[in-house]
Amino acid sequence: MPYKIALYPGDGIGPEVVAEARKVLEAAGADCTFTLIEWNTTLYAKTGKCAPDDYLDQLKEFDAILLGALGNSANAPDHVAVQPLLGMRRGFDQYVNIRPAVLYEGVDCPLKNKKPFDIDMLVIRENTEGEYTPLGGRHYAGTPHEAAMQVNYFTRMGTERIIRYAFEAARKRTRKHLTSITKSNALIYSMVLWDDVMKDVAKDFPDVKWSSMLVDAAAMNFVRQPEIFDVVVCSNLFGDILTDLAAVIIGGMGFAASANINPAKNYPSMFEPIHGSAPDIAGKGIANPLAAIMSAAMMLEFLGDEKNAVRISQAVQSHLKESAVKTPDRGGSAQTSEVGDDIVARL
Ligand code: ATP
Repeated sequence: MPYKIALYPGDGIGPEVVAEARKVLEAAGADCTFTLIEWNTTLYAKTGKCAPDDYLDQLKEFDAILLGALGNSANAPDHVAVQPLLGMRRGFDQYVNIRPAVLYEGVDCPLKNKKPFDIDMLVIRENTEGEYTPLGGRHYAGTPHEAAMQVNYFTRMGTERIIRYAFEAARKRTRKHLTSITKSNALIYSMVLWDDVMKDVAKDFPDVKWSSMLVDAAAMNFVRQPEIFDVVVCSNLFGDILTDLAAVIIGGMGFAASANINPAKNYPSMFEPIHGSAPDIAGKGIANPLAAIMSAAMMLEFLGDEKNAVRISQAVQSHLKESAVKTPDRGGSAQTSEVGDDIVARL
């Protein structure tokens, strides 16, 4: 049976990069059927909604979702535009957000004296609770007493399952090291619970070395000595911020792929580049499609087509190492589609 894929390009450069990911999947011969999902801020401008009310019901029929990017502040407020994304993560219990950050050969690293693969980390971000929970409220709106409260919501169950997943991931890697990102000197409830759970779960993984690092120190060390990180586990907000930084140190937002995983496979998982809709370059045909293409490879791996996942990843790596076809973010003048064509030729 072919994999049923929902192609959800979204806004801005989303459609441009998702088109290339589809092209590569088809050229690889991946056994997929594609259904185009045209929900975005253009729909919002017409109907007042970025997605239909039953969007989760419609999407749950698919094996996986390949998303581009959501958001265009000219059409809809950003916090409205991203609701379907957050809704999918929570509604489909995609509690693991996997964001690899690898410095590949042929890529300019903005950090001094870094060789290929000096940076090779896997950031695992909690994706369904923590700081991004829609709990809280605004009071006394429009008055000098106006107040806003945003609740950080950490459960033992949610914390334990993401930490356990991260330990399992670390166990499969050569270095077998896990860094837990925290801020328990200031966030004395949520992050102290996180630390307690970390210590409890660690007892089941005596073969994995682990350490704890405050998020501010981690931000500094991602730049100062990124080679010390192997697997990194963090809360929703910390992971969001640190992975933009991780994307930049491996050469830019154009390479950073991600997977939003429901490990139990009760619902579809969702795959997306880390970057947003990049309104500054949208519509110009110059976005780098590699993050979307690598996200598609992560999707195939998760679905079980490891052979094609590896082929696509190798084609991307050989493209980065050898090809002169580069979009402007890499100092070239190639179009988005030319990068896609180069990957296809290498498959
Ligand atoms: P959003 O609000 O949707 O997250 P944003 O512009 O705030 O959008 P990004 O879309 O991630 O954030 O873009 C940040 C910067 O990185 C922009 O200058 C953008 O042009 C650049 N960028 C992002 N993705 C790509 C890409 N695929 N190729 C080239 N440049 C990119």
